[in-house]
Amino acid sequence: MTMADDAPGGASAESPHAGFTPVPACWVCGGAALAPVHTALFELSEYARQDPALARYTGATVRIVRCASCGFGQPEALPSLPDFFGRMYDQRWSAEWMETEYTSGYKDLIFRTVLKGLEQRLRGRRTLLDLGAHVGRLMHVAAGRGWAAEGVELNPSTAAHAAKSTGLPVHRMDARELSSAGRRWAAVTLIDVLEHIPEPVAALRSAIAVLEPGGWIAVKVPHGREQLRKEMLRARLSRAYRATVADNLVHVNHFGVRSLTLALERAGFAEVRVEIAAPEVMPAVGAKRALSNAVRLSTWHLGRILPRGVESPLSLHLQAYARKP
Ligand SMILES: [Zn+2]
Repeated sequence: MTMADDAPGGASAESPHAGFTPVPACWVCGGAALAPVHTALFELSEYARQDPALARYTGATVRIVRCASCGFGQPEALPSLPDFFGRMYDQRWSAEWMETEYTSGYKDLIFRTVLKGLEQRLRGRRTLLDLGAHVGRLMHVAAGRGWAAEGVELNPSTAAHAAKSTGLPVHRMDARELSSAGRRWAAVTLIDVLEHIPEPVAALRSAIAVLEPGGWIAVKVPHGREQLRKEMLRARLSRAYRATVADNLVHVNHFGVRSLTLALERAGFAEVRVEIAAPEVMPAVGAKRALSNAVRLSTWHLGRILPRGVESPLSLHLQAYARKP
């Protein structure tokens, strides 16, 4: 069994991890022709006290495979430990860290771009549900543009921070429960969230359920193939650097234009449009960071004007809009 071998020095015979469960078919198109493109490593020793069963995965590896049919990348197997992802995301953020996440505004360009795209499509309807609202910054930016914004955030610390900072409703239940309660919005956002959720089509089906007919979703994800290409290049330039796009399976889905379009269509969306997403812009402290911001911004602008720029190496993140019929 080579699927998820332990690296040397990994879990010992006395404390084996809970193992892996194979993922036999592409989560987006159902294809079974899956070829390995990368190996993800687990390093979860920081959970040794909080969650020993989770920490035992330290040293294990799992391959990331790409679907020959739609180009989607996903793990060859998932940890069998019950609620592996919920346990890994059970992080107790410090108040200072959350406040910096909220105030630094490094994703504001992304949020403004997304909101503008939704405003152009929705013509006056201004209700929004941000799925995976984190510390509430997108809700804050949306409220400033006249949206009635609400959020969904399952992490208790970030949910409390989002509610306190914005004064807006933050639901600690998933979209499926909100849908069952009859709630609907004109727009739903999934920004830097979908790459973290196994079986992404099911997540998109939950999202479409809380949209009004004719409502729009905006999804932003890393561009899987181009992120891997960038990491491989970086590793080639520096021997000390190890290419990584999926360690701890934090990024469990690796989308391309085709697979993101297909995932949205399979969830019931229409009029899918995929573009290059706006970059993060860090608060400019020092020349190095200012240069890095300038490079990110020019890459984005150049990618947007080039024909097929969204398929080029300039396209490191994908931004999709799609309509509920
Ligand atoms: Zn596929």
